[in-house]
Amino acid sequence: MEIVSTCSEMRKLVLDWRRNSNFSICLVPTMGCFHEGHLSLMRTAREKADRMVVSLYVNPTQFSPGEDLEQYPRNMRKDIHLAENEGVHCLFTPDSSEMYPDGFQTWVEVTKLSKGLCGKSRQDHFRGVATIVAKLFNIVQPDVAVFGQKDYQQLQIIRRMVEDLNISVEIVGYPIIREKDGLAMSSRNTYLSQEERKSAVCLWHAINRAHEMVAAGMDSCSELANHLREYIKTYPATRIDYIFIGDPDTLEKKETIEARTLLAMAVWVGKTRLIDNTILMGTSQN
Ligand code: AMP
Repeated sequence: MEIVSTCSEMRKLVLDWRRNSNFSICLVPTMGCFHEGHLSLMRTAREKADRMVVSLYVNPTQFSPGEDLEQYPRNMRKDIHLAENEGVHCLFTPDSSEMYPDGFQTWVEVTKLSKGLCGKSRQDHFRGVATIVAKLFNIVQPDVAVFGQKDYQQLQIIRRMVEDLNISVEIVGYPIIREKDGLAMSSRNTYLSQEERKSAVCLWHAINRAHEMVAAGMDSCSELANHLREYIKTYPATRIDYIFIGDPDTLEKKETIEARTLLAMAVWVGKTRLIDNTILMGTSQN
């Protein structure tokens, strides 16, 4: 596995792969501290192209002031080992002087899709995400890129950006990988205390409850959201940021749960903000 930290080296490597061997390339963008979710993305990437690039960069522009940029878990040595085991061909580990050199002032904004859900409480988050992903696409020029459905809004924003900016890359979404008790894996789970870890499973239990209620005929988005809100409140140390039930493509709110309706949630457990989502399959014909 090659470890590359500058954009020019990265470009040269992919150019060599393409020119000399006509290799196709798949990119997996990450912020590191790999868990099974990241590793599953890598396994999928390996099947999608001849060469796999994994980027590892804790992107400061997607953290709002006061968020956890400084504490964000980092473990480069372990990540290198894990990536090597997954057959990653190149780990791209730029630093901020490389990604945001002096004078940087160009941003990518996916306006409407970035406004609701996580965009409401995380100001400029998705502008940071779209910008760094666009930069990575330009540097690596992958044929395919793999993203987790765990960050559902992010995935939709990237799909939109690729469409709107005519970026020639196939976007693959990968299902959420969970712990045994259902908690969606996340680098941020390491922040949870033992007691908070017990409450963290509330998102998964709420998802299951939602599926059960919809299967039993519940078709009102607001009633379901209210029910889930009350349910989550019963778990100690939780504070709901949002519960969204609406259109999985436009991310607009809906009134009725029809076939394919997105349930997405963000819940604070202590000082850790957790997200999760699912697609509800309503039975309503409206
Ligand atoms: P991150 O390092 O948290 O920025 O995540 C890098 C990529 O891994 C993103 O595309 C995430 O959506 C994806 N990812 C993170 N957690 C999971 C998970 N539990 N299951 C599947 N994909 C995930």
